Amino acid sequence: MGGRSTTGKSSRGGPSKRKVGMGQVGKGKARARTGSGRESAYTVGLDIGGTKILGALLDPEGDVVSTVRRSTVHGADGLIAGATQAVRDVAASGGVEISRLAGVGLGIPGIVDHRSGTVKHAVNLGVHDDELALADLLSAELGGVPVVVENDLNVAAVGAAHVLERSAEQDGVEQDGGARDHEDLAFLALGTGLASGLVLDGQLRRGASGAAGEIGHIPVDPLGPECPCGQRGCLERFASGKALEAAWPSRHGKPSPVELFDAARAGDEEAIVVKDRFASATAAAVRLLVLTTDVRHVVLGGGVAQLGTELLDAVQDALREQAKVSPFLGSLKLAERVRLAPTDVPVAAVGAAVLGRRS
Ligand SMILES: [Zn+2]
Repeated sequence: MGGRSTTGKSSRGGPSKRKVGMGQVGKGKARARTGSGRESAYTVGLDIGGTKILGALLDPEGDVVSTVRRSTVHGADGLIAGATQAVRDVAASGGVEISRLAGVGLGIPGIVDHRSGTVKHAVNLGVHDDELALADLLSAELGGVPVVVENDLNVAAVGAAHVLERSAEQDGVEQDGGARDHEDLAFLALGTGLASGLVLDGQLRRGASGAAGEIGHIPVDPLGPECPCGQRGCLERFASGKALEAAWPSRHGKPSPVELFDAARAGDEEAIVVKDRFASATAAAVRLLVLTTDVRHVVLGGGVAQLGTELLDAVQDALREQAKVSPFLGSLKLAERVRLAPTDVPVAAVGAAVLGRRS
């Protein structure tokens, strides 16, 4: 589980203005335009997971120049050494020297304090210390390049918003009112657990205690199974990788979601019931996000979303089914708001690089 602009859309702004992505928001805008010039606005983002580190180098326009993938080395020392090397590798493969980086962003699973750049209890990364000053330590390794640290779901949300916005721009979609329409979304991570990251009106919503978007622990069934969080019938118990694994344990060596969808496709009646129940619970998560935030998009990510269009279809079908009985829900066009996370770029690493522009 996680912790937790505006620009002219006409040609008046010129191509470079239109093309710069989410990094324009906040301080990154000034950095991208001033200082030592546009070349300094290259940034690197790392998505640091329990098994791998994904990295991306973004150019001043907000496009991905190069990417890298490395294995995670657990423990504080291994983490810093691995992150340092990943930054060096991705910058080198894009032909950019470390000293020219305007900033580096990190996405980390664990309790992150983005103000101090510290991480606590990143158990998946073997960091059990009271507090690891990750931003400062990595910055020192990189010769003083500013480093920001953010929760993994938040970087995924920022990355998804950035990629959506960029592709809308490249498709020549005109947006009214100067608002960045696509930077308004929830990234719904269907991983082991269930949680979301929120970018609302172009701004990352962390929440007062970093818990914004923790919808996995909203109880939906008072008689449902107990949850490790102490409550009963949490949404995560029905819509998550762990819930699927419990309902349809893997029997043939493939991931449980893949086996379930295979079996349902083959006509197994029990599998169809389990699949429908999962789709319905995931649709409930989408409905919850839209009814609380009215976000323009809900992006399905996380391991279970690797099922791809078959998952998307199932969730959209469930949303349309639920909307049939309610003209109110129907008017919200929930199914149309749902999409899959882009798979051609490492979204979370891109989001981390976007946040690196604001360092
Ligand atoms: Zn719970």
